Amino acid sequence: MPEPLAAATAVVDELVGDRAGAWDLAGEIPVALLRDLGARGLLCAQVGAASGGPGFTSHDNGELTAHTGSRCSSLRSVMTSQGMAAWTIQRLAAPEQAAALLPQLVEGRLAAVGFSEADAGSDLSAMSTSLIADGDGFVLTGRKVWVTGASYADLLVVFAICEGGAAAVVVPASAPGVRVERVADPMGCRAAGHAHVSFDGVRLPASSVLGGPGLPLPLLVTAALTYGRISVAWGCVGILRACRQAAARHAASRAQFGKELSGHQLVQRHLAELFVAEQVATQACGHASDCWEAGSPGLVLATVLAKHVGAGHAAQGASRAVQVLASAGTQDGHAVARAYRDAKLMEIIEGSSEICQLILAEHAVATAE
Ligand code: FAD
Repeated sequence: MPEPLAAATAVVDELVGDRAGAWDLAGEIPVALLRDLGARGLLCAQVGAASGGPGFTSHDNGELTAHTGSRCSSLRSVMTSQGMAAWTIQRLAAPEQAAALLPQLVEGRLAAVGFSEADAGSDLSAMSTSLIADGDGFVLTGRKVWVTGASYADLLVVFAICEGGAAAVVVPASAPGVRVERVADPMGCRAAGHAHVSFDGVRLPASSVLGGPGLPLPLLVTAALTYGRISVAWGCVGILRACRQAAARHAASRAQFGKELSGHQLVQRHLAELFVAEQVATQACGHASDCWEAGSPGLVLATVLAKHVGAGHAAQGASRAVQVLASAGTQDGHAVARAYRDAKLMEIIEGSSEICQLILAEHAVATAE
């Protein structure tokens, strides 16, 4: 493991310790910890040295994301949001905008990304949040839902309809007209700071519109989701690692019917399938990161594939881990119980499993000979 990555995972280990279960039950990660991790550049570790970031490769950032996900999916979710905000800025912003914003993100200011709305979930073309030119600035009006990390965020990257196209705009969470309402009792990733955010005529300078107004919505959404999907996929690898290890440890240490659980063939099947799931998800993520490093035209498809494979295997793998631990793993707050709830959400976010299947099916048809 490269030295900077080893140091980064050690920081995560030190900061998380054995507290992830308590954060999950409390529904909150201490914000000072998030700022600490953020100020070390580790919430968006692919940001390069020119902006003050660690400049990790996609692989190393993926490994950091997986490691974080193996410890705490809520923290990994906040990491994904910060990284997605940073990547959206890198992809869309003019150089002077990027120079102003990226250093803030690697100095510990926290960011979240809002695209979903009550009537625009899978179908983001139904988005109605508007950004309208007014004098020398813009006015933002609308409501985003389920924004991960929004209750911790200083900055929100918001997608809106604008001038016959769309725009991504950076909004200070403290701006007049912004209202953040915490999502009560999410079923998983409970400490990830999910919130609904309303924008009631929020006035913004023209410099806050990334790359200018009137861009194609699919371009904006694809920019954000490409990072979001690969990050969630690596997070799923982390869930699978944690589940495989917890299941294997338990199966080797508890005996029933006169021998260890790991000696019973039906339990062995669960362990084998967990190992396969972890390996397959890791390979799919590795391929997506290879495409990222190479700037391959296959990147978008590879991230959809990795996210779909990772999420499906994480949901099934977490279920298997709970089955192996049985009563020992079913108490709220236990790592595998938490993984079970967290993993299900991975099949919904950043393009649900069905939306991923639609994209993969379209590719299957388009490449048929
Ligand atoms: P719907 O779009 O209503 O879909 C309902 C069901 O119908 C799903 O199973 C879906 O797959 C299926 N479906 C829909 N259309 C089709 C179709 N054409 N063919 C087949 N099946 C279809 N949003 C943000 O903007 N930022 C965030 O940070 C963020 N974080 C989130 C974190 C969590 C934990 C959750 C639960 C959500 C988050 N979201 C976020 C919102 C998320 O992106 C949406 O929930 C997701 O896009 C699905 O939208 P929806 O919930 O409205 O479901």
